[in-house]
Amino acid sequence: MAASGASSKRFGGLGQWWGVLAGALLIAAWINSAAGPPVVIALSVAVLLWCFFQAPVTCGAPVRGRTDGCRNNASGLLLGCHIRQHRWQKLKMLFLRRQVREFCAGLFSDGKATIVTLAGLGSFVSGLVALVPGVIVN
Ligand SMILES: [Zn+2]
Repeated sequence: MAASGASSKRFGGLGQWWGVLAGALLIAAWINSAAGPPVVIALSVAVLLWCFFQAPVTCGAPVRGRTDGCRNNASGLLLGCHIRQHRWQKLKMLFLRRQVREFCAGLFSDGKATIVTLAGLGSFVSGLVALVPGVIVN
């Protein structure tokens, strides 16, 4: 009983990365043209939402006395960790012009953040291309 509980917990950790799986499906949908734009758009939106609000990245909110910022797990590139002051920190940075550069630097602050950022950019471009008629020549 205890063992099965532990393994389901481990699966829960992997489950946080479902966006990467959706990203792989998105690439497959692009390669296999039979999937069609609706599938590509749906997967693009799913991956984008995952990157923004669910991806397991590091919080990175400024913390007094630490140069690398908060190291807690955050949910998504736009949200911070469970600490209330950090929760909307990154969204706020996007609206303060002086901090947008800092926000962008945070997108590539470590390996995890870079993967999530690239997945987000890729799905954004793919969704855009699938939505604009005439870009894809069939
Ligand atoms: Zn934090």
